[in-house]
Amino acid sequence: MSIFYYTVVFFAGLAFGSFLNAWVFRKRENIRIVSGRSLCIFCHHQLAWYENIPVFSFIFLKGKCRTCRKQISWQYPLVELALAVVFVLTAWWHWTGPFVLTVELLRDWILVFNLAFIFLYDLRYGEILDGPTIPTAILLFFFSLPLGWHTWQSMLIGIAVGAGIFLFQYLISSGKWIGGGDIRLGLLMGVILGWPNILVALLLAYVFGGFISMILVWGKKTNLQSETPFGTYLTAATFVAMFFGETIINWYLGMLG
Ligand SMILES: [Zn+2]
Repeated sequence: MSIFYYTVVFFAGLAFGSFLNAWVFRKRENIRIVSGRSLCIFCHHQLAWYENIPVFSFIFLKGKCRTCRKQISWQYPLVELALAVVFVLTAWWHWTGPFVLTVELLRDWILVFNLAFIFLYDLRYGEILDGPTIPTAILLFFFSLPLGWHTWQSMLIGIAVGAGIFLFQYLISSGKWIGGGDIRLGLLMGVILGWPNILVALLLAYVFGGFISMILVWGKKTNLQSETPFGTYLTAATFVAMFFGETIINWYLGMLG
């Protein structure tokens, strides 16, 4: 029964991944997410249902548009697969039985989708929007209090640290090092993680960022001056800290003795 449950979650994750690809693209192009069928971005040929199945259509069409034969980006199936895996991991983490939907599971599926949106938008367009940061942070803050996810003190310190570290860099560099988007994302991270998990996420983001930059420089894909969108590291680190923050803190404190 649990295999069947995870399979359903996996396919739902693929569908949400496909939705995420479309949403990010349509948000950028100012197209309403609910309007019209999916089109090929090159020749605007309207996709038939069998050309629009997550991952499977990409394999079946060998990564090319059926009409204009242009190469479709690997980003599409990768995002779909990644979201499916992340949805299954979230379900596994909150496992209480097959097809049992707890408030916490629902919250984390929404948050994971929200973080994936910020990740993908920042990766493609180098920008963090207000929509998935500020309203999400406000809503989550007021849901967290009665449901006992975090205390208001924990979230306020989380915000002060998360937004504060980027606000500080923004102010001392007159906005050259860091954009306003990172401050808004830091605020959201503070509400999601609270204190002291916010520290884990910030530390992980700098470690991921440093590590990936090293690989890119090593592979001569870039030089040190070129900008890597820091929001992608921050969202990935938030995801890890959501589930493993406490484990990492306990492991660290244990090392100190
Ligand atoms: Zn086409």
